[in-house]
Amino acid sequence: MGVRTAQARLRAIMSMLETRLHAVHARMQAACQSARRDPSSLQLVCVSKTQPASAIREAAGLGERHFGENYVQEALAKLEQLADLRSQLVWHFIGPLQSNKTRLVAEHFDWVHSVDSLKLARRLSEQRPADRPPLQICLQVNTSGEASKSGIAPEALPALAGEIAQLPRLHLRGLMHIPAPGSDASVHRRLAALLQPGMDQLSMGMSEDLEAAVAAGATWLRIGTAVFGARR
Ligand SMILES: *Cc1c(COP(=O)(O)O)cnc(C)c1O
Repeated sequence: MGVRTAQARLRAIMSMLETRLHAVHARMQAACQSARRDPSSLQLVCVSKTQPASAIREAAGLGERHFGENYVQEALAKLEQLADLRSQLVWHFIGPLQSNKTRLVAEHFDWVHSVDSLKLARRLSEQRPADRPPLQICLQVNTSGEASKSGIAPEALPALAGEIAQLPRLHLRGLMHIPAPGSDASVHRRLAALLQPGMDQLSMGMSEDLEAAVAAGATWLRIGTAVFGARR
């Protein structure tokens, strides 16, 4: 069988989602190789905002475990539809967080990547149910300056991280950012340089720039479009 026929057959057998996931994992593998990194030091969060629960179920069936959501109500509806998979999946809240939504996030998620104030961190710690392990969090940093309004200013980070690290029901793991569109690859190195003592995670890299993020030390990639296709 010719190579092209074989590829055509494989494409016909694999679903679109499976094809895209293979491509994303191939990019991750290649990026780790160029950066001389151990692929096991890098994990994929499939960003499933606006995607139906059925797409998440299919991705879980293909071996994905980590899913990222941006909107609390939308996420809770999907968590309910996927309740049978709860013990298998790890849910990451990655969107803008309002203080009136912290309780729901503290109760239902495993990770929050977008903590950007002491007030939010305190609420999450107070509201984390006692029967759940500490909530794993990353602090969102504004590495793009004027171009982006969300995130902690780099100058404020050391003091804030010190206070948040004391909160009993949180485990402060690392840093996250969303670079302004058009940022060059060095923005990821800027975030990496801000890691504080005790932190071991860098949540950075999306569909367009995962290679640059891996080169700069990303441990969590948050990938939506390249996994699920265009958002509806
Ligand atoms: C939507 C989103 C992503 C994924 O973006 P893609 O470009 O679709 O890969 C990652 N992180 C955050 C915070 C997002 O809101």
